[in-house]
Amino acid sequence: MTSLHVPSPELATCVEQDAGDGPRMSLHLIDTHTHFDVEDFDADRELLALQARQQGVDALILIGYVARYFDRLCTVQDHLHEMAPQPLHAHHPADIQGQDYTPLIQSPVTLLAPGLHPFYIQQHQDGDLLKLEHLLQTRRCVAVGEIGLDTYTAEMKIPAVYVRQQDYFAQQLELAKLYQKPVLLHIRRAHADALAILKRHRFAYGGIAHAFGGGIEEAKSFIKLGFKLGINGLVTDPNAKRLRQVVQSVGAEHLVLETDCPDMTPICCRNPDEPHTRNTPVNLPVVLDTLSDLLDVDKQLLAVQLWHNTRLCLGLDWAYGQACWD
Ligand SMILES: [Zn+2]
Repeated sequence: MTSLHVPSPELATCVEQDAGDGPRMSLHLIDTHTHFDVEDFDADRELLALQARQQGVDALILIGYVARYFDRLCTVQDHLHEMAPQPLHAHHPADIQGQDYTPLIQSPVTLLAPGLHPFYIQQHQDGDLLKLEHLLQTRRCVAVGEIGLDTYTAEMKIPAVYVRQQDYFAQQLELAKLYQKPVLLHIRRAHADALAILKRHRFAYGGIAHAFGGGIEEAKSFIKLGFKLGINGLVTDPNAKRLRQVVQSVGAEHLVLETDCPDMTPICCRNPDEPHTRNTPVNLPVVLDTLSDLLDVDKQLLAVQLWHNTRLCLGLDWAYGQACWD
């Protein structure tokens, strides 16, 4: 059994809810990495938002990756914010008993984290850093992200391309320092270089190493710099042995949940007849279930710990289950 490190008031909140709601105690989760603004969700974004909230996803972080979509990111946030609570006509045990039970559900709270993604380095222009800074000045942004280094493909390894990635990464770290924001890191096959750049820039605001794909020693190095590790549906794959070892080695205290939707669909949510099943924030509890099994920690207690971790690394002041728009 992994030990948990949650302040007692938050655990008390959890226990009180247990006493009040009996066995159907509600879960409260934060999806720390979504691309919920992309067009994959245009047809049913509102419905998915309501379904996710019903599953306990109280908040979503909307990630920016290229400047030309920053407006779309803000529009989606405004739309979800203005959405009135709506009835969700889903089957509920009370319906079966002939009672009229149609709860009103609200959208999850959303937070912005705009950044210039290393994989799209060829699309960034110098003026984009100014657009990013303008957004940091004019909207409430919880972090700068996603930013980092990516050498997954041969094209990304071309020296001139990689130097440009490093330059954009460094400039965005300086912006994050200026506005005192944590960062959301995207790093593929470049963990040592990313750590070196973070240290060289004396970056001290921490954040999340999203979709963490490094080894145990690298995980410890990021944790030492104030980062939590973002864990998504990849962990539900029994073949993801290295990731599972990292999770078990660092423990619940250093993890946060994410879907990375529309990608990284948990194994059990994939349609075998489709080459790519869209992931959505509704699937976030599946990641929690897997972590609960891997860490041998009660699901409810783990949810409290992960909420607390997210608060810490993003500088949020939300008590458990108390996400708010302001
Ligand atoms: Zn992403």
